[in-house]
Amino acid sequence: MKRRDLWKGILAGSLIPAAAAQETAQRTKGLPPLTIKDVKVITTSGGRRSRWVFLKIITNEAGLWGIGSANNQYQTYAVITALEKHLKPWLIGKDPNRIEDLWQSCNLKTYWRGGPINNNVVSAMDEALWDIKAKRANMPLYELLGGKARDGVACYDHVGGRTKEIAAESVQASLEKGYRHMRVQYGEGGYGGGGFLRPSEGSRPEGGYQGWAFDEDVYVDTIPRVFDYVRSKVGFGPKLLHDVHSHLTGSNAVLFAKRMEPYSLYFVEDLLAPENIAWYRQVRQACATPQAVGEVFSNPHEYLPLITERLIDFCRTRVSAIGGITQAKKIATLCEVFGCKTAWQEGGENDPVNQMASYHVDISSTAFGIQEENSFPPVSHEILPGTGQIRKGYLYGSGAPGLGLDINEELAAKYPLENIPNGGPYGTDRGVDGKVIWP
Ligand code: MG
Repeated sequence: MKRRDLWKGILAGSLIPAAAAQETAQRTKGLPPLTIKDVKVITTSGGRRSRWVFLKIITNEAGLWGIGSANNQYQTYAVITALEKHLKPWLIGKDPNRIEDLWQSCNLKTYWRGGPINNNVVSAMDEALWDIKAKRANMPLYELLGGKARDGVACYDHVGGRTKEIAAESVQASLEKGYRHMRVQYGEGGYGGGGFLRPSEGSRPEGGYQGWAFDEDVYVDTIPRVFDYVRSKVGFGPKLLHDVHSHLTGSNAVLFAKRMEPYSLYFVEDLLAPENIAWYRQVRQACATPQAVGEVFSNPHEYLPLITERLIDFCRTRVSAIGGITQAKKIATLCEVFGCKTAWQEGGENDPVNQMASYHVDISSTAFGIQEENSFPPVSHEILPGTGQIRKGYLYGSGAPGLGLDINEELAAKYPLENIPNGGPYGTDRGVDGKVIWP
């Protein structure tokens, strides 16, 4: 081809794509098209009585496979069945390169899309597909998501105590471990501590509920005084957080956020249950206490208006509960556009695979705010070599290609899921009259 004709072709836009396609074909010469050859569901207690469910997607390329998290502590066996009976037969034979297409078609193949169980299924597939793609590129996943947007992923520590003195001391101890951010919880009775009446205390109906009872007014009165004390001891340097765990309703949520304003929190988490999120407009109008929301969200209609109407400051959905890395990256971009940040939920029963899925989105996103700390026992690091490590308040991935994790299936099998004779429900909090409190 003459030089003049080459430039004509380039200007017409016909040669550059053709040249690129030719180059790709040359690089993959001799390789068969990539196909999903097998799908395995791997379950384990992780050595700490968890109910971890992982999806392993195996391709036709030797040694190339990916892993994703479908962790659901409270509906574990429903997720396992959905993966084995509905996802696996559908997924085998498909092209793992087409992540977006598979995400969309998997999300729609149940007709009634969304919801926690289907989201776990889509997330596990999505994380495993990104793992495969990045391993094939021989890069840590964050490189494919845009590369590092920061040098590290800061985590917040979990501290607190039964008394305000212990709570203040725990903040100091966390600072000495290297954390800058710490979530401070208080009192007894679990989430909502500081608002619980002891068993049989308070006015109870005859023959009624006698256990720990949550009282919103007690909580709204107690917690700000605890933070007043803690700030008086540790100053305003540490970035303090507090999780209400959706225990408040309506104007009590507004009042609580206002009363916490003098203590300059990094954020207050989940003031309100998903059923009550319309109240965030009143909270925003009343004060500047930053709001982190979304731990139990599983539908975009829950978080979209809060982000786009600038009613919250942090979106803290769980990556493996909202559709995996594909959806988390979209949410992070939305957060960036609307001045919100991310704080993916990761504590408690979460697993190392979901932690790494969060990490790769965190480190490649301008919208990253903070990551919830989660540490695992040594045996978990053996079951999942390459599990992230937290040092001096920062989370580090292994740096290996993909998510950076491997899975030792033999060892995982030595720590099987434990029997759950009562079905393993999430605990129910109640008020003095026995009514259920929304978590
Ligand atoms: Mg929470």
